[in-house]
Amino acid sequence: MEERGLYYLFGFLHDYEGVYTVKSGYKAWEEENLVEASVSNSVATRDLWSGIWKLKCPGKIKHFLWRACTNCLPTKANLLKRKVVTDSLCHRCGRCEETTMHALWSCEAIKLVWCNDFSWVNQFEAAQGDFLDLVGHLMSRPHVLELFATIAWHIWLHRNKTRLGEHTVPLGMIRDAACKFLQIFKQSHDYPSSRKPTQPRRRGRWMPPNQGEYKINFDGAMFNESEEAGIGVVVRDSSGQVIAALAEKVAKPCNSELLELLAARRAVFFSTEIGVHQAIFEGDSETIIKALQRRTLFSSSFGHLVQETLYHASAFRSFSFSHTLRQGNTVAHALAQKARLSFPLLVWMEYVPPDIDMFVSADLAVH
Ligand SMILES: [Zn+2]
Repeated sequence: MEERGLYYLFGFLHDYEGVYTVKSGYKAWEEENLVEASVSNSVATRDLWSGIWKLKCPGKIKHFLWRACTNCLPTKANLLKRKVVTDSLCHRCGRCEETTMHALWSCEAIKLVWCNDFSWVNQFEAAQGDFLDLVGHLMSRPHVLELFATIAWHIWLHRNKTRLGEHTVPLGMIRDAACKFLQIFKQSHDYPSSRKPTQPRRRGRWMPPNQGEYKINFDGAMFNESEEAGIGVVVRDSSGQVIAALAEKVAKPCNSELLELLAARRAVFFSTEIGVHQAIFEGDSETIIKALQRRTLFSSSFGHLVQETLYHASAFRSFSFSHTLRQGNTVAHALAQKARLSFPLLVWMEYVPPDIDMFVSADLAVH
């Protein structure tokens, strides 16, 4: 998180001119992430989020697209609202307000970047809406949206670099650079059979999944002082990085095993929502994991939940359930505890707050 936090911080530093302090940048960064957290909670944006996560392009580009769609980029229009800059004019054309839509799509100066592949987009229609509408329009063609997002990301990078007077690819070459970038990414991530050998399991410690797979840890926490409980889910890749995390407050179930099962079910749903298809679900309740592995408990009072969980998991390309000790499940445990003080549902993408990140770092430090 710290690294990503700094990334955002420096993202702001790159963008600001004139009066600027690290403190105000950090505050803006925090506000930005609050906005993001609340946006990602709404059911209305769930489809968008899930659509973006299914794209076959680097995580930073998906994250950039998400931030652009939720109007979280530090465009001059947004900076003016926060009184960080005193004018909101686009530095490329000097004529229009630099909104997200203008900076990434409609500015006359960048038309040449888009004209090759996106001339079919109805300009009149596009001019009526905002950036989110434009992305919504492209969403039905994922491979088109991948190229769109990659080009938009390069345009944003170009914008930041030119404002700082740094060397960058000229506008006229951005389209080709973006295509090449995407092609290299796709080649390097096409690894159906190149699985690395399974590492020996060090009991009790969190172990990353194989390349191309995701490990989804889940846990539940009963809150004794109230009629509520918490569910924590964290999705991590083969390098141990957090792809997404969730903390959800639920009504207190009758016992902790049922809570673990609800957490397992949530983990499966959450993974589906963010477009994960190869998953190892890991929890620390032996009873529940065994029930899911052996498909037992069907006749018990919560057999229907076991069946429902397995039914949804069966849509994955591959999935398994595995048991870990509590030491191997600390991130999910901390997320479940965090639900105590949080809104009903909090979701983070690509980062987790510092109080959770310390457990992520601890997992990585032992390898
Ligand atoms: Zn402009």
